[in-house]
This record gives sequence, C-alpha cells and structure tokens, in this order.
Amino acid sequence: DKRAAGAATVSMKAGAETGFDLTGKVAIVTGASRGIGAAIAERLAKAGAVVVGTATSDSGAEAISKRFEGDLQGEGMKLDVTDSDNVAEIVKAVTEKYGAPDILVNNAGITKDTLMMRMKEEAWLDVINTNLNSVFRMTKAASKGMTKKRWGRIISISSVVGSMGNVGQSNYAAAKAGMDGWTRAMAREIGSRGITVNSVAPGFIDTDMTADLPAEWKEKLLENVPVKRLGDPGEIADAVLFLASPAAGYDFRLPATPCTSTAACT
Ligand code: NDP
Repeated sequence: DKRAAGAATVSMKAGAETGFDLTGKVAIVTGASRGIGAAIAERLAKAGAVVVGTATSDSGAEAISKRFEGDLQGEGMKLDVTDSDNVAEIVKAVTEKYGAPDILVNNAGITKDTLMMRMKEEAWLDVINTNLNSVFRMTKAASKGMTKKRWGRIISISSVVGSMGNVGQSNYAAAKAGMDGWTRAMAREIGSRGITVNSVAPGFIDTDMTADLPAEWKEKLLENVPVKRLGDPGEIADAVLFLASPAAGYDFRLPATPCTSTAACT
C-alpha cells in the first residue's frame, strides 16, 4: 500500500499531538498556500494523513512542499480550481502517487467586494466560479474513489456571510449560501456511501483575505463577535480536523470509548 509506507511512525507522534489519527488517509486541501488552508493542511498532516495542498503558483506549491519536509507526509501542487482540466489532472496525479483521496477540503476562495450597483459582471462571475463552481468540480473528480471505498470526508469552507449577508459582498454571500445548500444536498445524496459532507462557516479570521478591509468595517464586524477579536486560522483547522476524523463518521453504532481512530470506529 503506497499510502501506508512510512506512515506508522508519523501517526504515533501526530495522533498524540492532535488527538485524531488519520494514518493511511489521503487528503487534498485546496488553497493551502496561506491562511486557513495552510492551517488545515498542517493539522491533517500532523494527524498522520498524507496531504496534498494546492497553490495557484509553482512557488506557492514549492513552499507547501517545504513545510512537509521532515516528519509530515505530503506536498504542494499547482492548481487553479476554476480550470476543470487542471482539477482532473491534480486528482489523477494524487491518486497515482498516493492513492484515491479520502478527504477533500474545498477551501480555496477569493473576494471581489463592492456594492451591487457598482459590481461588474466579471467580479460576480469570478467569485461564483472560484468559490462555488470549484466545489462541484473538485468533488466530482475526488469523490469517485470515496464511493468505491465507502469512506470519505468532504468539507467545504463556507462563511457566516452566506447566512447573514454583508454589505459589499453579494457575490461572496451568494457563493457561500450556494455552497451550504450544495453541502446539504450532497450529504443526503452520498451519505449512504459512508461519505460525510459538511461545511464550516467561519466568522472574521485573521488572514490575507481580511488584512485589507477598511478599519471601520473591521470595527463594525467585531461588534458582532462576542470575544471581540479576529479568529485564528488554527481555530478553523481544528473544526475541520474533527470533521475529517473517524469520530465525525456518524457511524451506525455508538462506540464504547471515544471514536478517534479508524481502528476504534470500524
Ligand atoms: P486567503 O486569501 O488567505 O487564501 C486564499 C487561498 O485560496 C490561497 O491559498 C490561494 O492560493 C487560494 N486560491 C485563490 N484562488 C484560487 C484558485 N483560482 N484556484 C486555487 N486556489 C485559489 O484566504 P483565507 O485563508 O482567509 O480563506 C480561505 C477560505 O476561507 C476561503 O474560502 C474564504 O472564503 C473562507 N473564509 C475566510 C474568512 C476570513 O475571515 N478570512 C471567513 C470565512 C470564510 P494562492 O496563495 O496561490 O493565491
């Protein structure tokens, strides 16, 4: 088994560190070059998964590979989630090298904020294409192996803006609300194959995406945050790690002990 090679030693340390054991699992995390995606890729790898994190540039992909040097297993690959052929190529490359993906994290996303009356059609289409259509493309390509294995985890990074709305983010809110509806439909469609489909909807997280927001916007947004601070990418990654783990399997039986590893849950 290509995936099992060398994994055992990593998972002993990694599983203990994260509390979850993803040894033998192959994960794809889109947009792992920075921000929330980088934190998710790191968490999954520390739990013992082989992680392929993607970036839109060669240099970004190389930087991800560098982070995996040492104990963690995985690498960076260049991917544009708006390009269907590229998506198919990446899933094929991952499958040939490591085995079919067990975990897919649809994280890549962009914003092109402006008031609706000023929004160019391009800004609408780009955000919908990158943040929503990508989820269709990635999942279609990556879920075939999960269906065969009767085990899979599909986790998409949505946003509170999808349910709350936000001034200047109609394109982004539409994409995230679409992602949430899609998630619910897919959970019903493929749940019986042992594949869970979830979305995580962060609030305001400290990344490049929020770095350039005007100060008055930030202040207003923080008014709605009970702890009055921005979230950390690692806090979102922890939620994703749980959803990727055997513990989040919604299995048919209740385990006697907490179900944190594949062995304990099957
Ligand atoms: P960042 O802007 O920090 O990172 C975005 C990531 O997406 C980068 O890795 C980028 O790659 C990648 N990306 C952008 N366009 C494409 C594309 N066409 N194909 C493939 N990858 C692409 O964003 P965050 O970490 O803040 O956000 C990550 C996710 O979380 C997004 O879906 C976002 O909507 C969501 N989110 C963020 C919140 C926040 O407050 N930050 C709040 C709620 C949700 P590259 O580096 O190569 O450009």
